[in-house]
Amino acid sequence: MKIKDLHALLLNFPKVCTDTRKLAKNDIFFALKGENYNGNAFAKQAVTDGAKYAVIDEAEYQTSEQYLLVENVLETLQALATYHRTYLNVPIIALTGSNGKTTTKELINATLSQHYKTTATVGNLNNHIGVALTLLSMTKQTEIGIVEMGANHLREIAFLCAIAKPDYGYITNFGKAHLEGFGGVEGVIKGKTELYNYLKKNDKLIFVNGNDPKQQTLSQGGNVYSFGKTNDSEVIIQFIEAQPFVTCEFDGHRIQTHLIGEYNFSNISSAICIANYFEVSAENIKKGLESYTPKNNRSQIIKKAGVKIILDAYNANPTSMTAALTNFDQLKDHYKIAILGDMFELGNEAKTEHQSITNLASDLNIDEIILVGENFYKTESVSQKTTKFKSFEALKQDFKIPSNKKTTLLIKGSRGMALERLLDVL
Ligand code: ATP
Ligand code: MG
Repeated sequence: MKIKDLHALLLNFPKVCTDTRKLAKNDIFFALKGENYNGNAFAKQAVTDGAKYAVIDEAEYQTSEQYLLVENVLETLQALATYHRTYLNVPIIALTGSNGKTTTKELINATLSQHYKTTATVGNLNNHIGVALTLLSMTKQTEIGIVEMGANHLREIAFLCAIAKPDYGYITNFGKAHLEGFGGVEGVIKGKTELYNYLKKNDKLIFVNGNDPKQQTLSQGGNVYSFGKTNDSEVIIQFIEAQPFVTCEFDGHRIQTHLIGEYNFSNISSAICIANYFEVSAENIKKGLESYTPKNNRSQIIKKAGVKIILDAYNANPTSMTAALTNFDQLKDHYKIAILGDMFELGNEAKTEHQSITNLASDLNIDEIILVGENFYKTESVSQKTTKFKSFEALKQDFKIPSNKKTTLLIKGSRGMALERLLDVL
């Protein structure tokens, strides 16, 4: 079946579904294959549950006209996404970077949606399937698309750019994340700059953090619109403070966000810069940013059992761990306990990076450090205030918050550590 013909069906029944558990009536089901499943085997279920069509790539599952046979379902989904994106001709902003993509995406969406009908990546659907689904979720009403792109190895961003064909792009930062797949920090930089390369080659626009020399250097030769603290940038944003939340000033407006940590300043600034580029008023930018509160364990502040908790258990890598600890260091709270879980995907760097974080934490103004996981367990503790646990289960059994102190907890670790489970124990 031709992409064009498939797209014609999509215009009548606009929702695409890849998971029968989330299927709605009249969706088009795409039978993707994974390591442990074959979507073709679910096609019948999808049709029984009300799918208008099921796109499959194994002929034996084709039992009626509702089953559309293609060569490869995944490639068809991606090609259809590109076709749809071109058909609608919506300006697309692509975001990548080591840390802060989802937060930045949400902030950009919060500001642009004050003025435009936007379609943005839902949650963290940022891979070769998620990007396609994001594009396919755009409708005729969409005025701007905001697409998060994630990668853990080289050439992935180039591939996602080929699917999404972005008109604008922003790299949140170059940090120590997914070192294993990228083969070190140089690989990370190379991988992320695939976005710049695409934008340069196609004469598109790069948004740049003018306070980040790496971004400035690597974006050279492209069309750049930048933000920073000085007149060298198109958009000037002043940092005011990060305690308890990040406050900044733009165009005579003081913007008080609900985001913690100075590291969020660049995320916020990029949203201001992009919204300003698209001519959203400063009042509306302020309104959008101030209405946003972080969710899903991303630098969330919660209170439980009389304890203040900075819940940052969504993910961790050396860069975001350092940022979170530095912010925690500056908090003027009474008694501070950092509970840090292993950082995954560091390959050969795992030992060194876990040791550096252990050293850093003990140097900071933090009263107790609790390290959890096999990697942290192997580090040499440099101070009396550090306790180590080999696993979450071990921590769970022994963990007690000092009842005689007013305590603040920082909880941060890789996704696989799922340290938010600690909340059930408190
Ligand atoms: P993923 O790779 O999982 O998609 P992401 O890049 O989308 O992650 P977010 O989910 O926005 O990142 O943020 C995850 C965590 O990263 C935050 O809770 C915070 O600890 C940290 N973080 C966010 N922004 C920055 C930044 N600019 N610099 C360093 N760390 C950051
Ligand atoms: Mg994300």
